[in-house]
Amino acid sequence: MTALAESLKRRIAATGPITIADYMAECLLHPEHGYYSTRDPFGVQGDFTTAPEISQMFGELAGLCLAGAWLDQGRPPLVTLAEPGPGRGTLMADLLRATRGVPGFHDAIRIHLIEASPVLRARQRETLARFDVIWCDSVQDLPEAPLYLIANEFFDALPIRQFQRDPQGWRERVIGLADGALSFGLGAVTPFAALAPRLADTRAGDIVETCAAAAPIMATIADRIARYGGAAVIVDYGGWHSLGDTLQALSGHGPADPLATPGQADLTAHVDFEALARAAPDVAHTALTPQGVWLEQLGITARAQALARALTGAALEAHVAAHRRLTHPEEMGTVFKTLAFHPKDTPPPPGYTR
Ligand code: SAH
Repeated sequence: MTALAESLKRRIAATGPITIADYMAECLLHPEHGYYSTRDPFGVQGDFTTAPEISQMFGELAGLCLAGAWLDQGRPPLVTLAEPGPGRGTLMADLLRATRGVPGFHDAIRIHLIEASPVLRARQRETLARFDVIWCDSVQDLPEAPLYLIANEFFDALPIRQFQRDPQGWRERVIGLADGALSFGLGAVTPFAALAPRLADTRAGDIVETCAAAAPIMATIADRIARYGGAAVIVDYGGWHSLGDTLQALSGHGPADPLATPGQADLTAHVDFEALARAAPDVAHTALTPQGVWLEQLGITARAQALARALTGAALEAHVAAHRRLTHPEEMGTVFKTLAFHPKDTPPPPGYTR
């Protein structure tokens, strides 16, 4: 049993069941025992891998997308280049390499990383040692300036709450104790005004999820873009509307029981892109685009062929497999989606349609 499991059980025994959001926040970012606070979870040895860790092409094309938006907006001279939840810093390193040849871009950017984990901040410092980087605790710390931002698998790590529809209202799914073990249960029936719009598209027994942290973060990003210009590229798994239980634990590259080892498995939930768009009414957003389509439109096939020319044998096979993994509908190509935000009077960034 983990130290965090012990402390959560004592807390629940003393003050009652906790929300899934409280549980996720403790499991992911508890200062001593949190999953991200204490480890670098990526890669073959870790629990999961992400698009930038699969192939350098992901960060390169993300870079061309953001630099393309910067060019389209008339090359503003002093801009923020930001990434919330940058993991190992791999995406940012690939993005910076790919945009070296965009005249003026590197002189214009001030790199800001928003990272909660001290372990991952140290890792990012190593990866990006050659660059001037400013670390922030929150998107609110981002300068009052044009903002070019990329977030990959960041919003899925934010704590969610779940509500089950009941004939009389909503019951929150909570975590309590059953026979001394952490266990899911349902809170009392309550009317949740914020969920009123969901009465139209749900039936008794359905679960809907809300992510309280996502809207203010998105609103802050959109505020910078509406006032100063820029673009935000959000990539994650999820859809246009939340329905059903999407809480997921990953450990050792496989699914795990979310309650079994608190603090030692990654916990995520699907991103509700419609909720992000609703939090950003002052900027335009693109069509929600499958990751595979976005990468195709940014030219991944030509980039993959160019890289392949220098490879043979196992390295070539791995490269071909990575290209397929990022784009194929049966792999990450469709489950992962992307939505970009931009000022209302500018075209969508490259790779997107309205
Ligand atoms: N974007 C990276 C990593 C994704 S994992 C990649 O694609 O490889 C999620 C990242 O978000 C980690 O870096 C984690 O430490 C960070 N994170 C999670 N919750 C956060 C929060 N509330 N504030 C800032 N960073 C957070």
